[in-house]
Amino acid sequence: MSEPQTGTDRPLVVVTGASSGIGAASARALAADGWHPVLGARRADRLEEVAAEVGGTALTLDVTDPDSVAAFVAGVGDLVRGGQPLRGLVNNAGGAKGTETVMEADEDKWRWMWESNVLGTLRVTKGLLPMLIDSGDGHVVTITSIAGLEVYDGGSGYTAAKHAEGALHRTLRGELLGQPVRVTEIAPGAVETEFSLVRFGGDEERAAKVYQGIEPLTAGDVAEVVAFAMSRPSHVNLDTIVLKPRAQATGMRFHRET
Ligand code: NAP
Repeated sequence: MSEPQTGTDRPLVVVTGASSGIGAASARALAADGWHPVLGARRADRLEEVAAEVGGTALTLDVTDPDSVAAFVAGVGDLVRGGQPLRGLVNNAGGAKGTETVMEADEDKWRWMWESNVLGTLRVTKGLLPMLIDSGDGHVVTITSIAGLEVYDGGSGYTAAKHAEGALHRTLRGELLGQPVRVTEIAPGAVETEFSLVRFGGDEERAAKVYQGIEPLTAGDVAEVVAFAMSRPSHVNLDTIVLKPRAQATGMRFHRET
C-alpha cells in the first residue's frame, strides 16, 4: 500500500469503498475540487490504481473487520499528524446481496449487508469523528439509497440495512449540533456500477437486466452531488439529497423503453 504520508497541502477526505463505482468516482471528483482523498477498500490493486490516478493515498480497509478499521483509523491518524486535517468522510462502502423474499430470507446475506452497510459505517464513523471534530470544519457524507427511504418486494435485507444506516447517519445530525461537523445523506436510485453484479453473485446477464431499457445514473452523476454538497460554505448543511434516473419513480417502478 502507499506510504502513510502525503506531503500534501490539501485537506484530507476519507472515501470508503473507493476501489470501484460511486466511491472511485467520488475520489476523482473530490480530488478535482482540491481534496486529498484517502481511499479505503479491500481490493488493494484497484485501490492503488485509483489513488495513483487522483494523487491520493490508498489504505486497505475491510469495514466488516474491527481490526482492519482500527488499523485504517490509525493510518489516517498518521496522515493527520503529517500536517493536514481530516475534513471529510464519505461513508460509501457497502452493497446488496440477493433478492429473496422474507419467507426465503438467507441469513448469511443479511449478515453481509448489515456488517458492510450498517456496522461498517458505524465503525469507520466512530473511529474518525474525533479527527473530523478536531479539524474545526468536518463533513460526514453517507451514501445510503432510496432503499433507505422505502421498501420493495425481495429487498428486505438491503432495505432494512439501508434504513438502519440512514437512521445511524441522521442521528449524527442532532448529536453533532454545536460541533464543527456537517452531515449529508445522499440517497441514489439505480446507478450502473458493480452493485448489481455483487448483488447477483457475479451473474452478468441478471445484473445487466436491472438497467435494461433505462438510462441509469452513472457513478459520476452521484460523485458530482457528493462534491457539490462538500463544496458549500461551512454554515450550509445539505441534510438529505435523493437522486434517481428520470425513468425511475420508486425502487420497483421504472419506465423501460423496449
Ligand atoms: P460497487 O461498484 O460494488 O462498489 C462498492 C464498493 O464498496 C467497492 O469499492 C467495494 O470495494 C466496497 N466494499 C464492499 N464491501 C466492503 C468492505 N467490507 N470493506 C470495505 N469496502 C467494501 O457499487 P456502488 O454502486 O458504487 O456502491 C457504493 C454504495 O452506493 C453502496 O453503499 C451501495 O449500497 C450504494 N448505492 C448503490 C446504488 C446503485 O444502484 N449502484 C444505489 C444506491 C446506493 P472492495 O470490494 O474492494 O472492498
